[in-house]
Amino acid sequence: LLTDAPNINESATQIIKFHGSYQQYDRDERGARSYSFMLRTKNPCGKVPNKLYLTMDDLADHIIHSMGSTLGACGDLNRNVLAPAAPFARKDYQFAQQTADDIAALLTPQSGFYYDMWVDGEKIMSAEPPEVVKARNDNSHGTNFPDSPEPIYGTQFLPRKFKIAVTVPTDNSVDLLTNDVGVVVVTDADGEPQGFNLYVGGGMGRTHRVETTFPRLAESLGYVPKEDILYAVKAIVVTQRENGRRDDRKYSRMKYLISSWGIEKFRSVVEEYYGKKFEPSRELPEWEFKSYLGWHEQGDGGLFCGLHVDSGRVGGKMKTTLREIIEKYNLDVRLTPNQNIILCGVRKAWKRPITTALAQAGLLEPKYVDPLNLTAMACPALPMCPLAITEAERGMPGILKRIRAVFEKVGLKYNESVVIRATGCPNGCARPYMAELGFVGDGPNSYQLWLGGTPNQTSLARTFMNKVKIHDLEKVLEPLFYNWKRKRQSKESFGDFTNRVGFETLQEWVEKWD
Ligand code: SF4
Repeated sequence: LLTDAPNINESATQIIKFHGSYQQYDRDERGARSYSFMLRTKNPCGKVPNKLYLTMDDLADHIIHSMGSTLGACGDLNRNVLAPAAPFARKDYQFAQQTADDIAALLTPQSGFYYDMWVDGEKIMSAEPPEVVKARNDNSHGTNFPDSPEPIYGTQFLPRKFKIAVTVPTDNSVDLLTNDVGVVVVTDADGEPQGFNLYVGGGMGRTHRVETTFPRLAESLGYVPKEDILYAVKAIVVTQRENGRRDDRKYSRMKYLISSWGIEKFRSVVEEYYGKKFEPSRELPEWEFKSYLGWHEQGDGGLFCGLHVDSGRVGGKMKTTLREIIEKYNLDVRLTPNQNIILCGVRKAWKRPITTALAQAGLLEPKYVDPLNLTAMACPALPMCPLAITEAERGMPGILKRIRAVFEKVGLKYNESVVIRATGCPNGCARPYMAELGFVGDGPNSYQLWLGGTPNQTSLARTFMNKVKIHDLEKVLEPLFYNWKRKRQSKESFGDFTNRVGFETLQEWVEKWD
């Protein structure tokens, strides 16, 4: 199923192919634009059962009016901007979410290319007014793009994808330091937002056996007053646009630019575009991972309820139950960066019937989820992703069961937690390089093991072993968890423990384990 829906704010034409005809937007009787879209379904012999036809007809009417869009979800430009998914009414949370919206709007492509239609190498329809197309063509050599419809991206966009997360102090539900740009709201003593600490140069992707590619944590760039945030973000994006490597996509993320320049040089180049010096970053408290599972007060009289979703896949009983609840109570939902879902804006009177419905469907943790699963993540991998070398999402339930069995064998308690993440290839979509125990597919049924991330996602894991066959998992993990149970300092997390004792010692334990 593919749907290409324009952003509701875009003044552009959406062109569709539906039953062999192309349609542009039209205006309804009130003058509002109504759009069309393409839906790709598989119907041998062209057979469309009655129900399917009616569903497609509903979709065509409703997606745009429901404000759906895929613009900027992929490509060499700013992707989704993250912010904490919890719908807290607190000023700092609201400000973080507003800032994420503002940055997303700032970095939305301006031209109408999204709505272009090409046939046999020729553009046959465009949403762009002819004078804009002409102006851009006339100025395609320029670097300032005076008449370009893309004042920030210019004619060639960015060297690679670009990721931004905004959050508030202590809340690291967004995995802040894995982003190209991390933005943290800084408030005064009354909780009033004053400005932002900025972090730059995070990123996960790497390539096996190419040591010059690596995951990297964002580092501190400085502080900006709140009124300057969009100028500062624009200056960072333009620095990457002008200086990021375009000759080899393996090295084109901003993390490689900052690694080769060093943060001092990067800061001074950004300051030239920004037109000011960055102030020193403000002191912040420790980061914490927040899952938002279960019931919480929003702070405006309403409640929200976070539900765990295995690898972000809503299906089966969960799908029908969620549909019923969301429809009946007219709830908005939020998807979290940890693959979970939050039901928002629940009135207090609805808590009991919703709890009953969720419990009847077996969806209320902790009963239905192993604690190891609460912080686990896996990418889709096989059979969904063409880059996958091994299983991730489909393999995760089995891996967690086996780790649970090892926990029991070495005497670790049921509620002990270790952050476990798995991906089918080194691109690292489920951020395995931040896990306390990361699995990265490196061959048929084998994984590279990464250790050393922390529960609050502030340190990078390191490669511990290569080519660990999945059937040998216990041989490696048993000695590690056995020693963690017996030799850790009070409340020491598995990640901190592996970093403290060092990989050589861990290696010895694995080799001598009998
Ligand atoms: Fe695909 Fe997973 Fe690799 Fe991402 S990490 S490219 S989803 S296999």
